[in-house]
Amino acid sequence: MARLAQTAGLTDIQREILATVKDFVDKEIIPHAQALEHADAYPTDIVAGMREMGLFGLTIPEEYGGLGESLLTYALVVEQIARGWMSVSGVINTHFIVAHMVKQHGTEDQKQHYLPKMATGEIRGAFSMSEPDLGSDVAAIKTRARRDGDTYTVDGAKMWLTNGGSSNLIALLARTDEGAEKPHQNLTTFLVDKPEGFGEVAPGLTIPGKIEKMGYKGVDTTEAVFDGYRIGADKVLGGAAGKGFAHMMDGVEVGRVNVAARACGIAIRAFELAVDYAQQRRTFGKPIAEHQAIAFKLAEMATKVEAAHLMMVNAARLKDSGQRNDVEAGMAKLLASEYCAEVTQESFRIHGGYGYSKEYEIERLMREAPFLLIGEGTSEIQKTIISRGLLREYRAR
Ligand SMILES: Cc1cc2nc3c(=O)[nH]c(=O)nc-3n(C[C@H](O)[C@H](O)[C@H](O)COP(=O)(O)OP(=O)(O)OC[C@H]3O[C@@H](n4cnc5c(N)ncnc54)[C@H](O)[C@@H]3O)c2cc1C
Repeated sequence: MARLAQTAGLTDIQREILATVKDFVDKEIIPHAQALEHADAYPTDIVAGMREMGLFGLTIPEEYGGLGESLLTYALVVEQIARGWMSVSGVINTHFIVAHMVKQHGTEDQKQHYLPKMATGEIRGAFSMSEPDLGSDVAAIKTRARRDGDTYTVDGAKMWLTNGGSSNLIALLARTDEGAEKPHQNLTTFLVDKPEGFGEVAPGLTIPGKIEKMGYKGVDTTEAVFDGYRIGADKVLGGAAGKGFAHMMDGVEVGRVNVAARACGIAIRAFELAVDYAQQRRTFGKPIAEHQAIAFKLAEMATKVEAAHLMMVNAARLKDSGQRNDVEAGMAKLLASEYCAEVTQESFRIHGGYGYSKEYEIERLMREAPFLLIGEGTSEIQKTIISRGLLREYRAR
């Protein structure tokens, strides 16, 4: 797809990485995505290929064995991968967030221990904020970690861990009750090492099994039950309790750019499928692309793809420049996910009855797009973040 979603000002290295990833997506992901998705099978070979390409260490600094690339490079890689199959981007997304948190907030010992192994994909991360009773309202977390000397005992139930079973490290947000007045200052991030798999994977930690989902299959999403689970105080991220909320918000801020990138990838693919189908399918003696109603749909879809891509790139570049990007990341996530749902829906309509058949890729994209309206904060939460940021900036005198 030559024309849409181009990015000006990339370095030679960025272009080379993207060309390699695009080739991998076209040859190794797109041809297998439907079958793997319908079988709800973990993409073991694809993940091995991504490890070989060094994608697990894309943003990890070179001194810790990674490629030291920017958030922008990462987001553009994710856009390509989601164009192939969103579930694959889900495998690296939580890993990327946890690596970012360790890199930004970990003690030097934690960085030395985790980052080199995360760069090779030997350690793969999941992150856990949500619980059965809460998702948007993070500060209301109930899972408790009580300190006793050099260890904490964790009790509580977590929900919706992407890669909960297939990862071997969970960045866990739990309540430690630091005596602070504001609820979010009583939360702490723990680095929970665990073996991969399901059942009681460690004394006091159970990963019950995969949650059955409407889409986003292949990648496992799980609960995690902590019942008297003991963890050393040295596993508190950054060594200081009470800072977990800030750690997680930093993580989801880069995560939001990532979700925007995934939405862009799905929208690009939905457009590609629609523009192709519209030129092949004939009604009333001509290709449907020559009916103005369909041509206009294509024009609107392409405009949305382009707008979402530009906002996503802008948000990534802002974060890379070291500036606060909560408003821009929120805007990019909001616009890209809403547009992705619209573009996917229009592509589905262009496919007529065939869009409803499991033989056609658009059927899968239709089930993937809604997740992006929810993950890393719903559209309503993005609007809350954007409006708060704007009111801070445009405070009336
Ligand atoms: C497939 C999948 C994977 C996930 N992976 C992870 C993961 O890896 N780690 C993790 O921690 N979480 C994960 N999540 C959880 C996800 O982040 C939450 O589902 C999301 O934040 C929404 O929270 P909730 O489901 O509790 O909805 P709620 O917070 O209960 O919201 C319900 C509705 O109310 C609206 N709402 C809530 N508060 C307000 C408000 N103040 N103003 C206006 N409207 C409001 C919401 O927008 C939504 O429409 C995942 C979820 C899914 C579905």
